[in-house]
Amino acid sequence: MPSKPHVAVIGSGAFGGWTALFLLRRGARVTLLDAWGAGNARSSSGGETRIMRGTYGPDQPYTKMSARALQLWKDQEKRWNRQFLHRTGVLWLVSAPEDDFERDSLPLLREAGIAYEELSAAEVKKRWPQINLEDVRWAIHEPDRGFLAARLACQTVLEGFLAEGGEFKQAAVLPDGIEEGCRNGLTLSDGSRLSADHYVFACGPWLGRLFPDAVGICVRSTKQDVFFFGPPAGDDRFSESKLPVWADHRERFIYGIPASDGYGFKIADDTRGPEFDPTSGERTVSADGIKTIRDYLAFRFPGMKDAPLVDTHVCQYENSPDNHFIIDRHPAAENVWIAGGGSGHGFKHGPAVGEMVAELLMKEKAPDPLFQLARFRKW
Ligand SMILES: Cc1cc2nc3c(=O)[nH]c(=O)nc-3n(C[C@H](O)[C@H](O)[C@H](O)COP(=O)(O)OP(=O)(O)OC[C@H]3O[C@@H](n4cnc5c(N)ncnc54)[C@H](O)[C@@H]3O)c2cc1C
Repeated sequence: MPSKPHVAVIGSGAFGGWTALFLLRRGARVTLLDAWGAGNARSSSGGETRIMRGTYGPDQPYTKMSARALQLWKDQEKRWNRQFLHRTGVLWLVSAPEDDFERDSLPLLREAGIAYEELSAAEVKKRWPQINLEDVRWAIHEPDRGFLAARLACQTVLEGFLAEGGEFKQAAVLPDGIEEGCRNGLTLSDGSRLSADHYVFACGPWLGRLFPDAVGICVRSTKQDVFFFGPPAGDDRFSESKLPVWADHRERFIYGIPASDGYGFKIADDTRGPEFDPTSGERTVSADGIKTIRDYLAFRFPGMKDAPLVDTHVCQYENSPDNHFIIDRHPAAENVWIAGGGSGHGFKHGPAVGEMVAELLMKEKAPDPLFQLARFRKW
C-alpha cells in the first residue's frame, strides 16, 4: 500500500459519496466518478427523503450500524452547518398478527442505545388522533429518529469531498476489463482513461451489469412507486410538525413521511415491484399502485381520503438475495472493491458504510462474512 494510494470511487450515491469522503480523510488521493451526478434521478439515492430508523427486527447488524450512522450524520451536520435529519420521530405500527419482528427489535434498540417507547394503541391514538388505529395492536416510537433530506445530502457530501481536496468527474465507466482488476485502468465514456491503485464500485442497481461474473443476478433491480398526496388546505395534521414518519407492518409493509418543505405526504408500499432497468426505465407509477395506496390512505388516515395526488416518483431497489449489503473485494481482483446491495434500506447507513469501506481498504482488512460475495454461492 503506497503511503497516499490513489483510489477511484465509481458512483456518488449514498454508498460511494460517503466512501470517497472517508477515504480522503484517511489519507488517500480520491477520484470520484458518476455517470449522472450525485443523487441523480436514476440513482437509488435519488429523491427528496429517506427514513432513518433503528427498528430492524432480528436481521442484524443494522440497528447498531444505524446508531453509528446517525452519529456520523450529526457530526457532518455540525461540520457543514446543514440539516439532514428531520427529527419527527418514527412510529412503527404493529398490525400484523405476528409481532416477532418488533419484539425482537426491542433488546437490540436498547443495546444500541437508541431511545424508544413501547406504546399501546390507546396511547398512539391520544398523541396522533389523525391516525385510524383499527387493527393496530401496539407500536414502537423512536423519538430521536425521523427522515433524512436525501438528494441534499448526496450533493452536500460531494461538495464537502471537493472542499477537502477530492476530485470529481462526471463520466460513465465502461465495463471493459473491470472484472480483471482494471489492469489497464478504467475506460470512461468520454474516451479518456483513468488509472488508480484501487477501485471501489458503488454503482447501486448497475452493479450486476458491470460485474456479470462476480455479482450478476445477486443485485436485482425492482421498480418502486412512491406517491405524494396534498393535505387539505390549512390542515397541518399531516405535516412534519404534527406527524412522525410512520411504518405500518401488516400483510404488506407500507410506510410514509409527513408533508415537509412544500412536498406532499409521501406514501409507498415496500413490496418488491417488477424488474426495472435503472438506465432506460420510464419512471411512471402504475394505475394499480395508485388505487392500492389511495384505498390504504383513506383507511389509515381518514382526513386524507379526498387528498389529491400531487406528485409521484419512481425509484428502484437494488436487492441482494438476502437483503444484506454487499461489501467485499472482487473475488478475482484484489484491488477492486464492491459496495452495494442496499436492498431498500441502505440510505440511512451511507456514512457508516463509507467509514467501513475506507477502513477495510486502507487497512487491508477482510469484510464481515455477512457482507461477502461468497455467501451467494448457494444462490
Ligand atoms: C423508493 C425508495 C425508498 C427508499 N427508502 C429508504 C429509506 O427510507 N431508508 C433507507 O435507509 N433507504 C431507503 N432506500 C434505499 C436506499 O435509497 C438505497 O439503498 C441507497 O440509496 C443505495 O445507494 P447506492 O449508493 O448503493 O446506489 P445509487 O444511489 O444508485 O448510486 C449509484 C451511483 O452509481 C452511478 N453509476 C452507475 N453505473 C455507473 C458507471 N458505469 N459509471 C459511473 N457511474 C455509475 C449512478 O449514476 C449512481 O449515482 C429507498 C430506496 C428507494 C428506491
